[in-house]
Amino acid sequence: SEQATTVSIQTPIHSMTTRSKVVSCQLPLVEIVAFIRVGENIRCALRRARRRLSLSLRFLCLSSSTTDLKSEMECSKVKKSSQNVRVAVNIRPLLTRELLLGCTDCITVVPGEPQVRIGSHAFTFDYVYGNMGSPSTTIYDDCVAPLVEALFHGFNATVLAYGQTGSGKTYMMGTSGEGSNSGVIPKVMESIFKKIDSMEEREEFLLEFHLLSSKKSEEAFLAKPVVPERVPLQIREKKNGGIKLDGVFEAKVTTKEGMKLQLLRGSLSRATGSTNMNSQSSRSHAIFTITVEQKKIAHIGAGGDISCVKLHLVDLAGTERSKRTCAEGMRLKEGIHINKSLLALGNVISALGDEKKLKDGGHVPYRDSKLTRLLQDSLGGNSKTVMIACVSPANTDAEETVNTLTYANRARNIQNKAVINR
Ligand code: ADP
Ligand code: MG
Repeated sequence: SEQATTVSIQTPIHSMTTRSKVVSCQLPLVEIVAFIRVGENIRCALRRARRRLSLSLRFLCLSSSTTDLKSEMECSKVKKSSQNVRVAVNIRPLLTRELLLGCTDCITVVPGEPQVRIGSHAFTFDYVYGNMGSPSTTIYDDCVAPLVEALFHGFNATVLAYGQTGSGKTYMMGTSGEGSNSGVIPKVMESIFKKIDSMEEREEFLLEFHLLSSKKSEEAFLAKPVVPERVPLQIREKKNGGIKLDGVFEAKVTTKEGMKLQLLRGSLSRATGSTNMNSQSSRSHAIFTITVEQKKIAHIGAGGDISCVKLHLVDLAGTERSKRTCAEGMRLKEGIHINKSLLALGNVISALGDEKKLKDGGHVPYRDSKLTRLLQDSLGGNSKTVMIACVSPANTDAEETVNTLTYANRARNIQNKAVINR
């Protein structure tokens, strides 16, 4: 017509995401017909057409009686649910100190399977990184890269490093370094900036990095890099279900260097007196939150849509102080002793992993601890979560290692394939 031009594009599709589910179908080619309004950006028109297509595909899947399509749907549902919560285990190598003390390696990794054995126990996970000290690149590629990618598709995400003090949580998360030897956090930073650089509408992104430390101006920190004072954290829930923090230092950065500076500042404040098991770093959770604000291209007749997503990178408190907490009567059914927030976190993740219960409107106990309240909008729902349980292979740490593996395994709700009789 006078008012519109029609463009038809044939595109191969194997699966596509609609708002609520992943729809897979075996159509080799799908035609997208886009009507372009006069003066309208072609990309907006295509996006509209794709939206319409995904709606019709969803309808097709729902109304189709062919078992093929139905089983495809079931299959993609399972895929999706297992993608939302993943649990990996990272076994660090024996340290020189441990070798000198005559410690031995007490963990066996089952070849070709994500399974670990220790004593009479066997545990299955999504991924297991062996005691040879897997390169951090592998952990990043398997566990974290999909979460970073998900960020740019509008999902919130959380990476949790769990384990006793000395098990390699901070080493794995890493706060410095570059290239393949760097830890998870620098790798996340690098790939976020790479991703933004490769996008055409670069100026549409606004990155914010939040560190949980008290409010201090950047200039003051630069002039005198002091450890920020500690203030109680206030957590407030926004009307839309999002979480807002008071008493937190928030920095808006636009460069990688700016982000590194903020990270350094965070780790500095955490490193105070970290010489023994009761150090700050083993008693506190370090949470590094990256907020990505993405402004969709505005087009005629519509304002720019702003999407705001969060990625939490969490180096959890050491789990061993559990022993003290257990004296106060905190106890898990399975006999693991952990502190309150870690107990709450385990309960939340385990509730999220229980598809059946969730469907029946099952309760997710977010409100049981500050940690879970804080992560609430990035755990569960449409968010992606990965927990990496870090363990020491030393026989002297066997008891804690079993506790950690039991906790992580419970969080994942994975049926263990092999149970060795005691
Ligand atoms: P956590 O943060 O869990 O208390 P750390 O990350 O501080 O533990 O690690 C404890 C010690 O183990 C450190 O000296 C660290 O350098 C070493 N370490 C941890 N993981 C590895 C690894 N994959 N390869 C070599 N050394 C490691
Ligand atoms: Mg640490």
